[in-house]
Amino acid sequence: MEPSGMEALARTGLVPDAPCELAGQAALVTGASRGIGRAIALALAAGGARVMVGYLRQREKAEAVVEQICRAGGEAEAIQVDVRDAAACEAAVAATVRRFGQIDVLVNNAGTALEKLLVDTSLDEWDDLVAVHLTGMYACTRAALPHMMARRYGRVITISSIWGITGAAGEVAYSAVKAGQNGFTRALAQEVGPFGITVNAVAPGAIDTEMNQFLQGDDLADWLARVPVRRLGTPEEVASLVRYLAGPQAGFITGQVISPNGGVVV
Ligand code: NAP
Repeated sequence: MEPSGMEALARTGLVPDAPCELAGQAALVTGASRGIGRAIALALAAGGARVMVGYLRQREKAEAVVEQICRAGGEAEAIQVDVRDAAACEAAVAATVRRFGQIDVLVNNAGTALEKLLVDTSLDEWDDLVAVHLTGMYACTRAALPHMMARRYGRVITISSIWGITGAAGEVAYSAVKAGQNGFTRALAQEVGPFGITVNAVAPGAIDTEMNQFLQGDDLADWLARVPVRRLGTPEEVASLVRYLAGPQAGFITGQVISPNGGVVV
């Protein structure tokens, strides 16, 4: 009997036998109760990773992600971690290591947006964005690195934004912290590369999540007219890139800011 198309392809060695490239690995994803973080947690679990599902307020949604992973035969646990609190970040990394024995993948995803002119941005709002996007990333990464360095393997992936690349009027504070994440990524990659740890940022364009619910009607149409593929991205499209970067096959990619954005920034 002739082999099926897939079997014939597999015989060429072009298709990996097992899709579980992350089997045995442990991951912590912050802000994984919904949106992009949720899709990342599910994608890493689909790759075989055991996943700590971070959330801030929406415990039920985080538990639903855990249930979905466990029902499919995976392993996951929800953990509350306000990334503005460095001690909570350290505790989340420690809990990941306690539960799974290691931490191989850290995804700094938790985030909030702020659509305001700089002249209308208060110091409290500025401080809050810095705390969420920069201090949170710093604290989670700093806590995870010693574990990764000891095992000479690790993947640090931060979800920044196209606005960290180009900047956006009306989102100066958000652009500043996202650019900070990109700078952190480029510098840290050089520092920890010798330990087998890669550090990358994924900088999405507009993705269809609650964060973008304000984008409706004419505003949405105006935005889509600027995007060559004429649509918002999906959380799953970001997550599949993160899953790729988290895998052992991506070991030569580090210090990069990779932007799934539908062509709006080229
Ligand atoms: P989202 O749907 O609004 O979800 C935000 C997630 O972050 C939720 O899980 C939320 O937890 C969590 N979170 C918020 N503040 C937190 C804090 N202080 N500590 C810990 N967790 C916190 O957002 P998203 O669209 O998925 O965005 C995820 C990341 O992608 C963010 O870093 C964002 O800046 C970036 N990004 C998004 C887009 C986009 O178009 N959506 C584009 C570029 C970049 P609870 O559910 O418990 O509140």
